[in-house]
Order: sequence, then C-alpha cells, then structure tokens
Amino acid sequence: MNKTAQSVWDNCLSFIKDNVQEQAYKTWFEPIQSVDLNENALSIQVPSKFFYEWLEEHYVKLLKVALTKELGPNAKLLYKIKMENPYGNKLPFTEQIPSNNRQVIKTQEVDVPIAQKNPELKNPFIIPGIRNINIDSQLNSNYSFDNFLEGDSNRLARSAGLAVANKPGGTSFNPLLIFGGVGLGKTHLAHAIGVEIKDKFPEKTVLYISAEIFTQQYIDSVKKNTRNDFIHFYQLIDVLIIDDVQFLSGKSGTQDVFFHIFNHLHQNGKQVILTSDKAPVDMQDIEQRLLSRFKWGLSAELHQPDFETRISILKNILFRDGVEMPEEIIEYVAKNIKSNVRELEGAIISLIAQSSFNKREVTIDLAKQVVEKFVKNVKREISIDYIQKIVSEYFQLDIETLQSKTRKRHVVQARQLAMFFAKKFTKNSLANIGSQIGDRDHATVLHACKTVDNLVTTDKQFRKFVDDINKKLSM
Ligand code: ADP
Ligand code: MG
Repeated sequence: MNKTAQSVWDNCLSFIKDNVQEQAYKTWFEPIQSVDLNENALSIQVPSKFFYEWLEEHYVKLLKVALTKELGPNAKLLYKIKMENPYGNKLPFTEQIPSNNRQVIKTQEVDVPIAQKNPELKNPFIIPGIRNINIDSQLNSNYSFDNFLEGDSNRLARSAGLAVANKPGGTSFNPLLIFGGVGLGKTHLAHAIGVEIKDKFPEKTVLYISAEIFTQQYIDSVKKNTRNDFIHFYQLIDVLIIDDVQFLSGKSGTQDVFFHIFNHLHQNGKQVILTSDKAPVDMQDIEQRLLSRFKWGLSAELHQPDFETRISILKNILFRDGVEMPEEIIEYVAKNIKSNVRELEGAIISLIAQSSFNKREVTIDLAKQVVEKFVKNVKREISIDYIQKIVSEYFQLDIETLQSKTRKRHVVQARQLAMFFAKKFTKNSLANIGSQIGDRDHATVLHACKTVDNLVTTDKQFRKFVDDINKKLSM
C-alpha cells in the first residue's frame, strides 16, 4: 500500500465529483488541498472556517463515505484552516477549530502556530491600533427613531424596527426587510435601528453599508485576492444593515458571497436588516435562494404617508428649525406633496430659506411656486375621459371598444382598469364612473375595483399593467 495524502484525496474527489452538482464541486471541493496522511487520518486544508463549517453542515455524509472507501472504517478527517497571516508574512497558518463529535470523521484540534485566535483583518472599517476588533458603524446619528415620525404608512416597519433594535437577532424579524418607493424613509429607518442598537448595546458590532459599496468592496477583494478577509470581516458583524439590496440584481458574484455571509450570520443569531425599493416577489435578477432567505423574516413596506403624517413631518422640521409658519401654508404643502417625504422636506426647507433669507412673507403664492419646483409633476385634475384615453392607448384599443359590451378578456380587463383608476384618481361616485365608462351601473364598477385589487396581488403581469398605467396617469 503506497497511499499518499494526494492520492487518497484524489480518489475521494473523483467519488465526490460523481455525487454532487458541478457548481457545488467547483465551489466547495476544488479549493481544498490535501496536506498530510497519517495512518487513517487525512488532513485537508480549507480556505476558511466558514468553509469548514459549510462542509460539515452539508457534505459530512459524502465525505464520510468517500473517506471510508479509501481508508477503511476508522478513517478520520482533519481540517486545517488557511488564513491570511495578520503579521504580514505570507505563510498561511492554521487556526484551532472546535472538536466535533461526529462518528467516524472527527475533527481534531490542530496546533496553532501563531497564538492569535481572532486575527485582525485588513478592512477599511477597522480603526487601526485598537486591540479588539473595532468597527466604525457608518451610522448617521441624525437619523433616529425620535425624528422618524410615526403614521399608518410606516407603523409596521417602524415597530418591527424598534422590536429588532430592542432584541437584535432575538426576534423572528430576521432578516428585517424594509421596502418602499424613493424618499419614503428606508435609509432613515435603517440607520435609526442601528443607532438605537448601538445606544442600547454598545458592545455590539453594528455595520451600515449600502449594497453598492458592499459590491465594490467585494470586487476589490477579488482583485486583491483578499476575498476570504472580506468574508471573515462580514462574519464578525453582529448587526449587518445593507441598504438598497436591489442594487445586487444581476451581480451574481456579490449575491453569492452575500448568501454565505447571510447564512453564517443568521445561523449564529446575528441580525440582518435590509432595505429595497421593491418587495422580494418583484425583485429581478436576484437568485432564488437569496430571495427565499429575504422572506425568512419580515418584509415591511413603507407606504406613502397620509395627510396627517405629512403634516407632522413638516411641523417637526419647523419645530427643529425654530420657524413658525401659517397653518394654511403647512396644509398647502402637505396637500400637494404626497408621494415622497424627501420632496416634502425639500419644499418646506426651501420655504424656510425663502422666508428667513429674503425676509419674505410666506404666502400661498410663494408656497405654490416652491411646491411646483419640488413636485416633478404638478398634478392636474385627472378626468375620467383622460383615464379612458390613457388606458385605451396602453392596450391599443379605441375608446369605443373599451366602452363596448364585448366580453373579450383583454377588453374587459382594460375597462375594469379604467374604472379602477377613475375611482382612484377622481372624486366621482361609482354610479357616475359607470355611466361614463360604457354606461354600466355602480355594482359593475365596484366589482371592477375588487377584481383589480385581487389581480394586483396575484398576477404579476397584471400588476405591471397597473404600475405602468399608474405612472402614465401620474405624469
Ligand atoms: P429612502 O431611503 O426610502 O429613499 P430616506 O430614508 O432617504 O428615503 O428618506 C428621505 C427623507 O425623508 C430623509 O431626510 C428622511 O429623514 C425623511 N423621512 C422619511 N420618512 C420620515 C418620517 N416618517 N419621519 C420623518 N422624516 C422622514
Ligand atoms: Mg435610501
């Protein structure tokens, strides 16, 4: 018998190759090197501790079978974990790994040549010279729960955020995914959660990062050959906040690495907070396995704030800046800027500036001018005729067909959509809407609105129609 570590491992590999998918083989087995064979114990070197855990978690049976075939029933597998040496010389060193009670394949403790359990990893966020790993959280303390005003539009997301802040990793909201349109407060809320956690649990490592920067860091790490450092770094975080995860769409390498980081954090009871401009179901070009992880916890939507919330947001800003403004001006602004808190803030700040710098009286006229600048699309009154025109054009029908008695499915849907939008965008009664759209009664309109509501939640294609038309009508 002339077995070497290499030959034993090669034989194991060819067995493994036949039994796992190609991609998994490439990812998890190709990077492994055989190191040593001592009687029936084979040592292999894996790139990271995470790697080792992953193998133990997913491939222990397969490894056991392969190794038993080669080395008999007393086969043992020893892992050595390769790490970048923090002291600068390029020699890899091994880290002690916890022993593990699996039957045949036992991981034994291996020597730690360099007495350093928690090597400091090279990372942009680490403040040099501080002994414990100390990471700048990248949080903006101006974004707090106190100044994130509560309303129906954000109650769920806000309270879930508070729950998470009180017990990071300890609620079922893990991950917490906050989603909603632009300027509705996702970034603010994400920071607020982090700020609150830092306040309550100063020892926790919190990190806020945009998905864009995360992606750049990852790409850099691949270029510089420090991918493992990158992964290790993120695996040290207790509370990881990633803003705008939709940015990861189409970026499969980054998604892949995030998937592993996510799993590691989640398995270790760490908290993950994500924001996105879309609900998971609507995210495009994000791997299924990642989407399914996103759905493990809670997805909470930020909606457009209602009138009262808009008023309180405005008053809060005025109060903060010590400015008084007539009630009717505040109401005017709140009435006319509906869909975006950022625009709401912009308008009031601009009004404050106008009044204080130019010593101008803030009049409704001035408010009008300012609001028009901020609301990209000044709302004109939308009429039922206009809605019918837009809907017919969208489906390439003429208005007569839309209004006709035909039961063709696509025409019926178009008609129902016209009714739905008429209800949504005008103040007409159901009866009135019915009589203008092909002379139907109010029950038909009511039915149409319900049908649309249903289809929007069940039919993705249909939802796209609604979104598209909605956009056109809001232009
Ligand atoms: P998003 O990340 O969803 O695009 P932001 O978090 O950047 O939105 O919010 C835009 C602006 O609106 C920020 O200045 C934020 O402070 C403010 N804002 C949003 N929601 C609220 C709220 N509920 N109370 C107070 N300010 C809010
Ligand atoms: Mg944002």
